[in-house]
Amino acid sequence: MKIFCVGRNYVNHAKELNNPIPEKPVIFLKPDTAILKSPQPFYYPDFSKDIHYEVELVVKISKQGKHIQEKFAHKYYEEISLGIDFTARDIQKEQKDKGLPWEIGKAFDHSAVIGTFQKVNFEQKHISFRLEKNNTIVQNGNSVDMLFSIDKIISYISQIFTLRVGDLIYTGTPEGVGPIAIDDRLEGFLNDDKVLSTEIK
Ligand code: ZN
Repeated sequence: MKIFCVGRNYVNHAKELNNPIPEKPVIFLKPDTAILKSPQPFYYPDFSKDIHYEVELVVKISKQGKHIQEKFAHKYYEEISLGIDFTARDIQKEQKDKGLPWEIGKAFDHSAVIGTFQKVNFEQKHISFRLEKNNTIVQNGNSVDMLFSIDKIISYISQIFTLRVGDLIYTGTPEGVGPIAIDDRLEGFLNDDKVLSTEIK
């Protein structure tokens, strides 16, 4: 199983990290050992002092595909959820500054929290979601604000990688990312349904 992640897919988030607006989706991967199933706790790792949350819509691939045209991309997923792309911002910054790969800051164990999946309602044009930290909203997102839609992302990735059943795509985070601390509780809501929670230990 592969975990794809899209970086800088919301203009306001790219701006808050002083990143340019990309012309093509920015793609990186995490290994399957990154998965942490909600509501399991997340243990703050000792190699970083600045872990950030990034809440994202996550699509689960339901059919194997390669070279998928955007107009057929909707046939390749049926379920959606929320995930948190935990990022060791201190390590990622160091790697970015040196022009090195990000994996040690992005793909570590349990860096990909995954919530409960829901059936996609293809009639619904805009999917809203939010993340609460200790009962305060810290991120509010809507799929309408994505630079690259889910279907565009699937089409783009599949030109380069074979998509297999069960692969996950984290579709990028809106603005409002921030640090976590031990004892924080994170809860994710998809269309107002709570689908994800994790406590930081
Ligand atoms: Zn992310």
